[in-house]
Amino acid sequence: MFRYLQILVCFFLAHGCSWGASRPAAVIGTTVASACVVGLFAWKLMHPVIRSSKAPLIPVIPVVPPAPVKMIYPLGDGIGSVELLEVAGNDLGIANAARVSLGKMSPVLSDADSKLIAYLIKNSHGTPFEHNMLKFRIKAPIFVTRQWMRHRVGVSYNEISARYAQLPSEMFIPKVWRKQAKSNRQASGEKFDSPSFTDLSDKTCKEAYATYEALIAGGVAREQARIVLPVSMYTEFYFTCNIRSLMHFLNLRLDANAQPEIQEYAKALLALAEPFFPATFKAFRDNKSLPVVVEKLSTTERK
Ligand SMILES: Cc1cc2nc3c(=O)[nH]c(=O)nc-3n(C[C@H](O)[C@H](O)[C@H](O)COP(=O)(O)OP(=O)(O)OC[C@H]3O[C@@H](n4cnc5c(N)ncnc54)[C@H](O)[C@@H]3O)c2cc1C
Repeated sequence: MFRYLQILVCFFLAHGCSWGASRPAAVIGTTVASACVVGLFAWKLMHPVIRSSKAPLIPVIPVVPPAPVKMIYPLGDGIGSVELLEVAGNDLGIANAARVSLGKMSPVLSDADSKLIAYLIKNSHGTPFEHNMLKFRIKAPIFVTRQWMRHRVGVSYNEISARYAQLPSEMFIPKVWRKQAKSNRQASGEKFDSPSFTDLSDKTCKEAYATYEALIAGGVAREQARIVLPVSMYTEFYFTCNIRSLMHFLNLRLDANAQPEIQEYAKALLALAEPFFPATFKAFRDNKSLPVVVEKLSTTERK
C-alpha cells in the first residue's frame, strides 16, 4: 500500500512540476506519471506469483554460502584434482522450477520445498534440476577422462590441446595394484602392493615421456609427437554440468562397477557440489533406488 502512495505522490509531483512548465512539458510529465501508475496496478493484478504468495515485489533468493572446500585431490598423488570454479543456482531454484507449473514461487526454501525436491528425485522428475550450473576444472589421467567424456547430455567440456601445448611430465603411477576380477570381466578385484610394478610403470612412463621430448626437440610437431605417450598422462579440462546431469554421472560413476579411479573423481564432485544443493543431495542419498551411499570425504583425501 505504501508503495502505491509513493507512486501517487510522484504522480502529483510530476503533474505539479510540469504545471509550471511549458504546455508540451506538462503533457509529457502527466502522461509518464499516469503510465507508471497504470502499469504498476496492472502488474499487481495480473502477476500470479505476487497474488498467490504475498512475496515481496522482487523476491529475495538467498545466496548459499560457498563450499568450505573448493579443491580435492582424488587420487592422492597431489596431481589429479577436482576444483569447483563456479556455481549458479540452489535448492530453492529447483523447487521454484517445479512450482512454476502451479504459477507459484517461494521466496525462501521451506520444508515443503525440500520435500518437493525429494519427491521429484524419487519419481524421476528431472527437468527442474536443469536450471543451474556447476563449473569444475579437472585434472585427470587420460584413461579416466575417456570414460568421463562418454557423458554427453547436459554437460560441456573444454580440454587442453596437446597440439597447442607440450604436455607436462605428469603421469598417474599406482602404488596399489588390483587383480583382474573373476566374476566381472571388466572389473578389478583384490588389491595388492607391488613396488616393483610401480617402479616398472614409472620407468616405462618416463621413457615414453623422454621419447616425446626428443621428438619435439627434433622438430616433430606436438600433434604427432604425443602418439608415444601413455594413457596414464594427465590431461586437464573444464567440466560444466547441471545438477540433473551431475546426478546421472554420479549414479553411474559412484557405482561399484565403475573403475575405482573414476569413482574417486565422482566422490570429489559430490563432495564439492553437495554444500551448494544440500536438500537435493540429501534426497539423492536417501533415495533407496540409487546405489549411492557415499560417506562425506574425510580431510585426508584433500591435499
Ligand atoms: C560401469 C560402466 C561400464 C561401461 N562400459 C562400457 C564399455 O564397455 N564400452 C562402452 O562403449 N561404454 C561403456 N560405458 C559407457 C556407457 O556406455 C555410457 O557411454 C556412459 O556411461 C555415459 O552414460 P549415458 O549415455 O547414460 O550418459 P549421457 O551421454 O550423458 O546421456 C544421458 C542420458 O541421455 C539419454 N541419451 C543420450 N544420448 C542418447 C541418444 N543418442 N539416444 C537416446 N537417448 C540418449 C539416455 O537416457 C542417457 O542415459 C560404461 C559405463 C559404465 C558406468
